Amino acid sequence: RLVRGDEEVNGKSVVAILGLSTCCGEALRIKATGADAAEAARQLADLLAAGSGESPGVAPTAPAPAAPAPSPDALTSAVPAVPVVPAAPAAPAVPDELRGVMAAPGLAIGQVFQLRRGLVDVPEKGGTPDEERDRLETALRETALQLEALKRQGSDPSRSAILDVHVALLADPDLLDATRALVGQGKSAAFAWQQAYGAHAERLDRLDNALLRERAADVRDVGSRVLSCLAGVPSSHPQLPEGAIVLAEEITPSQMASFDRARLAGLCTTTGSSTSHVAILARSLGVPAVCGIDGGALGVADGTPAVIDGGRGSLRLRPDEAALGAARDQIARQAARREEEQAAAFGVAKTRDGHRVRVAANIGSVDDARQAVAGGAEGVGLLRSEFLFLGRDAAPSEDEQAATYLAIAEVLGRGRPLVVRTLDVGGDKPIAYLPLPREANPFLGLRGIRVSLDRPELFRSQLRAILRAAPVGNLHIMFPMISGLEDLRAARQLLAEVQGELPGAAAARIEVGVMIEVPSAVAMAEQLAREVDFFSIGTNDLTQYTLAMDRGHPMLAKQADALHPAVLRMIRMTVEGAHRYGKWVGVCGGIASEPLAVPVLVGLGVDELSVSVPAIASVKAALGRWSLPECKALATEVVGLGTRAEVRALLGAAQPAAAQAAPRRAPAATISVVKG
Ligand code: PEP
Ligand code: MG
Repeated sequence: RLVRGDEEVNGKSVVAILGLSTCCGEALRIKATGADAAEAARQLADLLAAGSGESPGVAPTAPAPAAPAPSPDALTSAVPAVPVVPAAPAAPAVPDELRGVMAAPGLAIGQVFQLRRGLVDVPEKGGTPDEERDRLETALRETALQLEALKRQGSDPSRSAILDVHVALLADPDLLDATRALVGQGKSAAFAWQQAYGAHAERLDRLDNALLRERAADVRDVGSRVLSCLAGVPSSHPQLPEGAIVLAEEITPSQMASFDRARLAGLCTTTGSSTSHVAILARSLGVPAVCGIDGGALGVADGTPAVIDGGRGSLRLRPDEAALGAARDQIARQAARREEEQAAAFGVAKTRDGHRVRVAANIGSVDDARQAVAGGAEGVGLLRSEFLFLGRDAAPSEDEQAATYLAIAEVLGRGRPLVVRTLDVGGDKPIAYLPLPREANPFLGLRGIRVSLDRPELFRSQLRAILRAAPVGNLHIMFPMISGLEDLRAARQLLAEVQGELPGAAAARIEVGVMIEVPSAVAMAEQLAREVDFFSIGTNDLTQYTLAMDRGHPMLAKQADALHPAVLRMIRMTVEGAHRYGKWVGVCGGIASEPLAVPVLVGLGVDELSVSVPAIASVKAALGRWSLPECKALATEVVGLGTRAEVRALLGAAQPAAAQAAPRRAPAATISVVKG
């Protein structure tokens, strides 16, 4: 224990030591008990006397006296004290250009808006103390993992030291004792934790020492991080300023759903990659986004003027007039090209030599469906039905779901296929009211179809709601995260039962398909193809599972690329398996929205590209530039390459023959690849 005068605190508790608010030169005593007390106290006394590894601005006024002879059980030592927690460094100077990876293309001028953690609604009463203790332990472990990941993400040693303190706070005995005491009285872990860290933070708020007062923010930061883990999702609904470029460590789909699109100019996260859900949502909104941006971005003041360039993965701060002018010119040029492509977006999607490839849209709402049709979509290749379930307090009722599916089917009409994917939650899409067990590897655990099979009533009600839209539209049902025939058959069995209960829908011919996003599903493509009507390749997940790279991992963002030859080979195997049984294959992962990838996917035999709404026009335009033989030759060439970088380099330099020839020349029969 640390003793100063008649105050005594737990020497193992960071918050208690902070609360003692010692000043340089004050005398402290160390008390220790136990077999190694003497040695431990001596080492601590030496550490404090030496300044705990820091050089205080003011030298101690008295030299450290030698430690008195220890008694077997207790030891007391007087040493000049120094602050024990490193001072927060002055915010590092943020360079004017911060770099990350492209998550959604586009350029915008706006102002920085830091998305800070919001308040979490916390129930006071909990389950049994044992259950609540388990919850607390899991949340603490999860938070520690998050903090370790953040540490790995930056190289700044002071930032790393602060994160170390945050990790230490997670094991703080005073904080934990206070929390456990409340849990023992029947309070929920979240309530108990909030009370405990809140009380400690308030104590720090009241200190005279400004430096230590600031540490209250650290306690609150780490406290709310644990609270978010306990609650499942953050529940903030921030008010964005005009032209907000939102900066955050991460942005959840439900936070995205709460943003006012009219005020949103761009998104930057220090975590994530082009396949994370924030990137997918940004692309569907047509908002430029950068993931994996330098952690220093979180220190930029609100209101700082900035230009975000999603395509380059850059955020330029405080642009001067010249930079602003250049950005405005580029925005105007991009708008003109989009307008040109948009004008041609209503034609039938086909290659230059007339090979049909359906260009459909990925959507999450009725509004998206309207925009998709207005943007020239030939159908919906992926309705992410989970977006009906996100950002709310309870699951939508069957009637509410049915009304949404019906409305979407009506917008599309019978002429455009509508592929409804059943609930795909888990992994990085948590739902507060559908608590899933905490797992060491959520992406490898209860996710996608596994959640639906685990909660058959929820699944049945969704299937009934989808089937109610069948009479109005050209309806298809698709199951996510299928890893083999077991899942597929179990899901089909439930579907057949529900169809049996609804005679009208049972009569309707509904195509049933699966997402191919797990390597085992690729390996089983032939067997799966015998039992379904179509496949849709989810390259976002297929990439993460094939390359064993978390789709949200900040350091792996660049490498987790669907244009990796390994992923392209998986796509080829999938198409071969499906076509052998006459089944069609779509790609609905993010790579389908990249014009660069279009000729490769077509060359691999893909029949449908399901893309974000803003990408429809540019994907159709890209398709129309290539002939099928050119696409096939290009695909053969890239699957033989060794790395994703080689694939991207070759595609960046490749041009269809028509682009190099005189305008309107007859379609070329062979490919001509320009290598730069
Ligand atoms: C995918 O994994 O590619 C996909 C389309 O599904 P989601 O991104 O919603 O997981
Ligand atoms: Mg997926």
